This record gives sequence, C-alpha cells and structure tokens, in this order.
Amino acid sequence: MSMLVVTADRVIDGTGREPIEGGAVLIENGRIAAVGRRADLAAPAGAAVIDRQGETLLPGLVDAHSHVSIIPGLGNQGGQLRERAGKAMLRAVPNLRADLLSGVTTMRVMGEEHFLDVDLKAAIEAGRVPGPRLVIATRMIAARHGHGTALTASDGAEEIRRHIRENLAAGADFIKFFATGGTSSARAAADTCFYSEEEIRLIIGEAHRDGRPAAVHAHGGPAVKLCVEAGVDTIEHGKLCTAEDFALMRKHNTWLVTNNAISFHPDGIEKGDAHTPEIMAKLNRGRANVPKMFRLLLDSGVRWALGTDSMHGLLWYEAQKAVEFGASTAQALAGVTRNAADAIGRLGEIGTLQPGKRGDVVSVRGNPLADIAVLREVGLILKDGVRMDTLTAA
Ligand SMILES: [Zn+2]
Repeated sequence: MSMLVVTADRVIDGTGREPIEGGAVLIENGRIAAVGRRADLAAPAGAAVIDRQGETLLPGLVDAHSHVSIIPGLGNQGGQLRERAGKAMLRAVPNLRADLLSGVTTMRVMGEEHFLDVDLKAAIEAGRVPGPRLVIATRMIAARHGHGTALTASDGAEEIRRHIRENLAAGADFIKFFATGGTSSARAAADTCFYSEEEIRLIIGEAHRDGRPAAVHAHGGPAVKLCVEAGVDTIEHGKLCTAEDFALMRKHNTWLVTNNAISFHPDGIEKGDAHTPEIMAKLNRGRANVPKMFRLLLDSGVRWALGTDSMHGLLWYEAQKAVEFGASTAQALAGVTRNAADAIGRLGEIGTLQPGKRGDVVSVRGNPLADIAVLREVGLILKDGVRMDTLTAA
C-alpha cells in the first residue's frame, strides 16, 4: 500500500465548501482517502509527506475542450489536422507535456484524425508519454461543405452512422460533431448550420444509444436550438448565443463549454491566421460579442465549463478571462475543476478532492479565490497520486 500525505496553507476541495485552512489530503494507492485539517488528519505510519507551505491545494485541473495535435499560432488548423500522422504526433507529444505541466490532469480531446488520440491515451495510461488523462472523441463528425472537416467528412444517414460506429469501435469516449461554421476557417459564417435536423438527431441518437455523450461545435444561429432540442449534452463555444438560446439550454440542462484564449490571446488565431482577412473578420465579430454573451450566460443560470481549444498550457488564462467577463473567482475555478469534470461526464472520479476519487491534486502559491491569476504557476502536480511536476520542461 502506498500512502502520501500532502499538507499546505489551505485546501480548496472544489465542492464549493469553505477552504480548509491548514488542510491536508491523504492519498492511498492513487486514490484520495481523506481530506481535512492537518491537525485531524495524522499521517499514518510509513506515509510519505509533502508539505507545500504558502500554497493552496486544489483538484487537478480539467481542460474540457482541446485537441492534441493543433497549435493555433501556426495557423490553418484544419490543415494541421490533415497532415501526416507522424507530423501531427510530433506536435501532440510536446503539447500534452505542456498541458500536464500547467496542472491539467484530465483533458477532453475534441477531434483528431489518424486516431492519434486513441494511441496517445493508451501511451499516457501506460506511462510511456507524459500527459493529462484523455477523454477522446476520435474523428470529428462534420459535413463535407462545413467547418471542422479534416480528412473525414460525414453526410447523410449511412455515412454518418458508419463513421460514428467506427469511432466507437476505435474507442471514442463521446461523439463530437460540427453543426455550425467556426472562426478558424474562411468557410461560411459562424452561425450557419450545415446539418439537417434529421442528421443532427441521428448523430446524437447514435451516441446516446451507445451510452456516450454528444458534443457539438455550435456558435449560434438555428443549430443551437436544433441540437439542444435533440438532446445534445454540451454546446461547444457558443460565442454568438442569445438569451433565447440560453433559456432553452437551461430548460434542457445543456452545458456550455466555452473558450477565449484562442480568440483573445496573442498566440491564438490572431497569430496563426492574421494573413486571412475572412478569418480575422470572424475573429473580430466573435471578440465583440463575447462580453455580452458571457453576461447573458451568467444571468441565465446555464451550467458552463472552460477549455483551451488547443491553447496548450493556457487554462489559467481561460479562468482569468472568465473573471474579466464577470464570473466570480469561485465560478471560474469551478469552470476548470468541478464543472469541467461534470460537463465531460467524469465528476464521479475527478474534479473535486473527495474520498474515493483519483489522487489528482495541484498546488498554487496564494489563494485563487482571492486572485485567479495564481493558477498561472502551478507547483505540485499529482496525477493518480503520482508526482508529475518533477518532469523536466521540454
Ligand atoms: Zn475545438
């Protein structure tokens, strides 16, 4: 039996309860065994002890929306997905290392070609490649004339069904499809809907019949209503969502997983696609609408979580942007811990520090509830109770 006690100035267990001053977390065989005050939680004989003075312990961070092989600052994200597997893999391995070293212990991967995510998930689980635990979509389901189409296009019932079942057979944890245009391709406005209602119902139905969630890339327009009414689990992005869209999502208990680093950080789309005026126009439309959208989101009571959308290592920036747009520090922290775990269907095993859950723990200097920016510098990183922060940076 391996036992580890981690102590710090405070523990924020992520459940929403008050921080535990002078707190400690006991991990046994990679699982959390107890969380409480150091004074009440004596280290069992033979337990290893890590003391993080001046720091706060938090649940391992969860990036609810990313990709492994994309670097937005290189531009042409669709083209990056279409490249040879070896070339894409050479970007993916350092990307995942950067994600892990930023404190992300679980990451939901929103679409890759070549089943890169299947092989990386297995390699990470086997300890051959450092990275967050992956929850994977495998290939994206996208229409030929739409956004998000890389090497695989799926149109009509027969092709859609076949590709979804091939994805599930290969190990997809959920199904990701693209209903609307996006920012990073010049093709059509971000609120154009590319799939028919029948196709949308088919995709979500195929995922649910296999007991898997369905996640949809949708910025706004008619696709949001079609997908929500058809029972989609998460709307991804939602940058052009209206109060009406959010009211419907609230009614159906649909999650919004949103992201801002790729749009606002200088290393995002602005760096990669500055030479394409159509993309820059879409970027600026999205940027202009986001503060209003975020206010509507917060007022609506819709549950939301955050993801970097391939801005590897920048989940702290997502949390900071959410605060800038009106979220409380507690909401932003939940958006990268408990709510992110819940949105991706994994709250039973990660997202909070509670007995029985995986031993995913990170530490930061100071208190993120006072200043969310402290998430930028993560100290200790435990994944399944194993120390990851001692990896040397690549
Ligand atoms: Zn994405």
